[in-house]
Amino acid sequence: MIESLYSPDIRRYENGMRYRRCGKSGVMLPEISLGLWHNFGGVDSLSNSFAMAHCAFDHGITHFDLANNYGPPYGSAEETFGCIMQKSFKPYRDELFISTKAGHDMWPGPYGNWGSRKSLMASLNQSLKRMNLDYVDVFYSHRYDPETPLEETMQALVDIVRQGKALYVGLSKYPMEVAEQAYRYLAEHDVPCLVYQARYNLFERQPEKTTVTQAKQHGVGFVAFSPLAQGLLTNRYLNGIPNGSRMAQGRFLKQEVLTDVVLNKIKHLNDLANQRGQTLADMALAWLLKDEAVTSVIIGASSVNQLKTNLKALRQPCFADEELLRIDEICK
Ligand code: NDP
Repeated sequence: MIESLYSPDIRRYENGMRYRRCGKSGVMLPEISLGLWHNFGGVDSLSNSFAMAHCAFDHGITHFDLANNYGPPYGSAEETFGCIMQKSFKPYRDELFISTKAGHDMWPGPYGNWGSRKSLMASLNQSLKRMNLDYVDVFYSHRYDPETPLEETMQALVDIVRQGKALYVGLSKYPMEVAEQAYRYLAEHDVPCLVYQARYNLFERQPEKTTVTQAKQHGVGFVAFSPLAQGLLTNRYLNGIPNGSRMAQGRFLKQEVLTDVVLNKIKHLNDLANQRGQTLADMALAWLLKDEAVTSVIIGASSVNQLKTNLKALRQPCFADEELLRIDEICK
C-alpha cells in the first residue's frame, strides 16, 4: 500500500514545458505527454509508477494517455492510475487531461473488443471505475472496426460526450479514407473530433504527409505515439539488449527488429544527436515537434531518469537544414 504525501512542484508550469493548441479546439496539450501502455501494470512496481507520474506532473505534463487493456494484466494500468488519482492527483483533477480508449481485445466474449456501441459504452464505464474518475477528457476509438458500421461507432462516441462521460473524442490508427468520413460524421453531430493518434517517429514516417496533414485540414489535433520507436530511438540498444528492457521482454518489441542495418542507423543518428549536444531520444522527440501540426508526442518511460532525459528535448527544438537532410539520409 502506497502512502502518498505528494505535493506537486509549485513551479510546475515554469519548468520549460510548452503547450500547443489541439487542432482548432480550445484545448492546449503539453508538447510531451506520458503514456501508460507499459510500466504501469499490475506486474510493475507501484512506487515507480507513482514516482514517474509525480515527476511528469511536476514538469508540466498534464496529459496522461491510457487504454482499457494497458497492463498487464488488462485494466491494471487504469487501476494504477486510479490509485495515483486517489492518493496524489485528486486535488488537481482540473489540471489534468486524461484519455482512455477501447477497441482492442479487453474481455472475453463478443462484446469485449472492436467498435460496437455495446463494447465502447461498457468499456468506458469500466475504465471510469478503475481510474476513480467521473469523466475522461478524451475517449478514443482505439482502432477502426471494419465489421461495425462506422455510424454506430461514431454515434456511440457522440452519445458518450452527451452523457458527460467524456469531454472530447478521438480516433486512433483509422485508415485515412475512413478518418475522412468519421471527421465529417462527428462534426455534423456537433462533437468534432479533438485528436487523431498514430505511430509516428523517425523510423515510421507514414503519417508525415498523410494523417498529420489530414488532421490539420480538419482542425483536428495530432498526437504521435511510440515517438521513440519503443526505445529503438534512444541509447537503450546501442551496446546490446539490456535485461529488463522492452526488447528483452520481447512481447511488443522483438529482437528481430534490431538488424545490423537498423543498429547502424541508430548509431549514426546517435552521433548526430551528440553533435547537436543532445541524446538520441531528445533529438527524436525534437524532430517530431518541429512540425507545429504535431500537438504532442506521447512518450513511454520505465524510470524517472528516462522521463527527465526526454524532457530535455524541449530545450533544443530547432534543426539546421543540413541536419534534417542528414537525418533523412540515415533513416531512408
Ligand atoms: P516510446 O516510443 O516513447 O517508447 C518508450 C520506451 O522507450 C520506454 O518504455 C523505454 O523502454 C524506452 N525509453 C524511453 N526513454 C528512454 C531513454 N531516455 N533512454 C533509454 N530508453 C528510453 O513510447 P511507447 O511505445 O511506450 O508508447 C507511448 C505511449 O503511446 C503509450 O504508453 C500509449 O499511451 C501510446 N500508444 C498508443 C497506441 C495506440 O494504438 N493508440 C499504441 C502504442 C502506444 P524500456 O522499457 O526498455 O526502458
